Amino acid sequence: MMSSLFSRGQVLLTKSFQPTRINSIRTMVIAKKYVIGKYFQGEPKRSDLPLVEEELPPLKDGEYLIQAEYLSVDPYMRPYVYRVPLGRTMIGSQVAKIIESKNPNFPVGQRVFANIGWRTHTVIREDAGGVFDQPPYVLPDFDGLPASLGLGVLGMPGNTSYFGFLEICQPKAGETLVVSGAAGAVGSHVGQIGKILGLNVIGIAGSDAKCKWLKEELGFDHAINYKTQNVATALREAAPNKVDCYFDNVGGDISGIVLNQMNVFGRISVCGSISSYNADINAMPKTAIIQPALVFAQLKMEGFIVMRWKNRWMEGIEQNLKWIKEGKLKYRETVTDGFENMFDAFAGLLQGENTGKAVVKV
Ligand code: NDP
Repeated sequence: MMSSLFSRGQVLLTKSFQPTRINSIRTMVIAKKYVIGKYFQGEPKRSDLPLVEEELPPLKDGEYLIQAEYLSVDPYMRPYVYRVPLGRTMIGSQVAKIIESKNPNFPVGQRVFANIGWRTHTVIREDAGGVFDQPPYVLPDFDGLPASLGLGVLGMPGNTSYFGFLEICQPKAGETLVVSGAAGAVGSHVGQIGKILGLNVIGIAGSDAKCKWLKEELGFDHAINYKTQNVATALREAAPNKVDCYFDNVGGDISGIVLNQMNVFGRISVCGSISSYNADINAMPKTAIIQPALVFAQLKMEGFIVMRWKNRWMEGIEQNLKWIKEGKLKYRETVTDGFENMFDAFAGLLQGENTGKAVVKV
């Protein structure tokens, strides 16, 4: 039912991040964290994100201490980093274990999802808000599935797929769906929801191995390798009756081509534009003019941020968990070992090294 766990086989973590303890009384916890030393220019560089240590204070009432088990690397980190002042912790979310607590709602041993950045240990305040206004939450019961899924199919990317596709594309059985970035965390999930709902699904991805996975394991009807195929020609063959829904993860030229093959009253959900994330913010790539396609096919195009549905967060997680248990939704993780390798995992994601969700195991 489920796909295998992939490891990028990098340097194994040296277990040097354990809190220092004497006679089981905590004397000192040293957290490791990456800080934003320099804003990215072009492709991120290792030196942009220095790794530093920080001594954590003892807990006050209402606080609890968490230790990261899995951290997420996501494309949004690349453009979003400019919103964070230099010197702050690099943004990102993690699944972590509570190892000390003075808060009865967050007891020792529980696992939490926390959007608190690239760090190994963190003291969470009672009134913690978190990036994107999303306070830490105790992970729901995943019924034996790995906790890391709380960063992927049973977390933010899963909800991006569920709400961003269903609410904006309003798909109907028999229609044709195109997904770009199709072999990533979000794209692979959206395409499978399309199949669950009875759509003809076409994925666009960056390698033959990814296209094979989409068709042979996930049940996509067609997959196009945008690096080796002519996307316009291949799409005309795969969608002779044109496209009704487009879930756009990449923007740029690929999206210009898809928009020009849409049916009247087609819907476009604009989730991301990774093809431009490494571009200079003052010199964005010039790409196809899309207005004629929007006007003549009377298309509806809408961007979204998944936190729009933060009040329905658990609905998305529950539905995705149900589909996994029914064998209708498969997932894959690309796992990098070691907190020291966070940067490699992030840079690799932007280069297309991941299939499915990219996570780092501490
Ligand atoms: P993915 O797992 O899809 O990883 C990124 C993938 O993007 C890479 O594996 C690579 O695959 C592809 N890629 C990289 N460069 C290019 C390029 N120049 N052109 C085309 N494809 C490229 O990431 P996610 O699933 O986490 O995210 C997918 C998209 O969704 C991103 O744009 C992200 O910003 C967006 N997003 C938006 C949210 C929202 O609320 N709006 C929330 C979450 C994600 P390949 O080998 O196919 O090139």
